[in-house]
Amino acid sequence: MKQIDLIIKNAYLITMDPAHSVLTDACVAIDGGKILEVGGADLLERYQAAKTIDAYGKYVFPGFISTHSHLFQTMLKGLGRDKFLIDWLNSSVRVALHEFDEETVYYAALLGCMEGIKSGTTTILDYMYAHPIPGLDDCVTKAFEEIGIRGVLGRAFTDVSSFPPEIACPHVETERDFFDEVRRLEKKYRAHDRISVCMAPGIIWDHTDEGFREMRRTADELHMPITMHLVETPDDDAFSREKYGEDTIPHLEKLGVLGPDFIAVHCVYMRDEDLETFKKYDVKVSHNPNSNMVLASGVARIPEMLEKGITVSLACDGSASNDTQNYLEVIKAASLMQKVYHRDPSLMPASTVLELATMGGAKTLGRESELGSIEAGKKADLVLFDPLSPWSAPVHDPVSALTYSCSPDNIKTVIIEGRVVLEDGHMTTVDEEKVIREAQRLGTRLVEKSGLGNSQWGKKMPFIHI
Ligand SMILES: [Zn+2]
Repeated sequence: MKQIDLIIKNAYLITMDPAHSVLTDACVAIDGGKILEVGGADLLERYQAAKTIDAYGKYVFPGFISTHSHLFQTMLKGLGRDKFLIDWLNSSVRVALHEFDEETVYYAALLGCMEGIKSGTTTILDYMYAHPIPGLDDCVTKAFEEIGIRGVLGRAFTDVSSFPPEIACPHVETERDFFDEVRRLEKKYRAHDRISVCMAPGIIWDHTDEGFREMRRTADELHMPITMHLVETPDDDAFSREKYGEDTIPHLEKLGVLGPDFIAVHCVYMRDEDLETFKKYDVKVSHNPNSNMVLASGVARIPEMLEKGITVSLACDGSASNDTQNYLEVIKAASLMQKVYHRDPSLMPASTVLELATMGGAKTLGRESELGSIEAGKKADLVLFDPLSPWSAPVHDPVSALTYSCSPDNIKTVIIEGRVVLEDGHMTTVDEEKVIREAQRLGTRLVEKSGLGNSQWGKKMPFIHI
């Protein structure tokens, strides 16, 4: 018998392999962070595992992949609601940015990752653009390291040089600093099993033309993706037309920055020509339905993108514009949003949405050979779904239950890189209670110091202290 790390037995597997195989009474053999073999009970005769998980009565899905977040924003849940994008920024993120320190970013990232894991997320691409002081990216990657999630750090740059004095950041980065930091972080995590780095230019107005060209050269040299907020609102094109005399996507095409490693986030205001451009360059799309609804940004043309063969994935976006990293809400919203908008209930069925949450995410990251499905040779990122919860029971079809009637209560066990990070609903890697308590304390401190806070019925809501 071969000695291995982990075996899952008696499983009902929704594999998401190319044939969409669904296997019952199945076993998954895991060793060295990878799936060694998927098969029947005979695996139990061939492998001796250090740990065995009996998945009898549970469904097993591939881990979900969130291709866009801003984990530092976890501290800003529920603020600045009921406003359009720019007004929202001015009543939440922009005003608080200068107050973020190491401790605040670290606990924000830990809590955001925990929300992700408890809702079945095994990979998060974090678009980290808070740099009021140097070194905060390392606080996010430290959280990735400790909690055990697969993390892609999108090292971002946002131009804060024009902020008014009352919210000015102590440290103002240049575009050059951005490239230096990208290289430092890439080198630091080059050999890491779970953590990698990509470039995340903020938005069209944050960079120079030469900056975008350098990004393309850097991406080609270091083989890392570029991810960017793109046409979330009409503001991108208005700016681009005024500055460059053309819309955003044609301008980026002209600069040579588009390609199969380009992950475009939001993509709400896409013209027919833009869809063609995305198809031509195999640009990937990160769809953030909840955030688009919260900010009333609009409805992205997802069914048409899929029809054209454009790769689409799902994401939560930051908790300042979605208020949660609960991935299950994104799964549901991605389906319902298109149905109601087009008055067509046949759009975005559960099977399609699950494809976007798993293989769509893997393809978006350019990692379809190692993530997104339960197949031999892939990374062991798996989610055990317990049907016995009031929100889902009785379950007749796990794909439908996952999309329309479940809650994090259904997600009992999560395995990332072969390691059980959530077991029977509890985190095994961090002190859950401490993380929640620290996030409440630090979040309140941050918001009080920034002078933020909401009003309800015309009255400022007082803070609670713990
Ligand atoms: Zn974003």
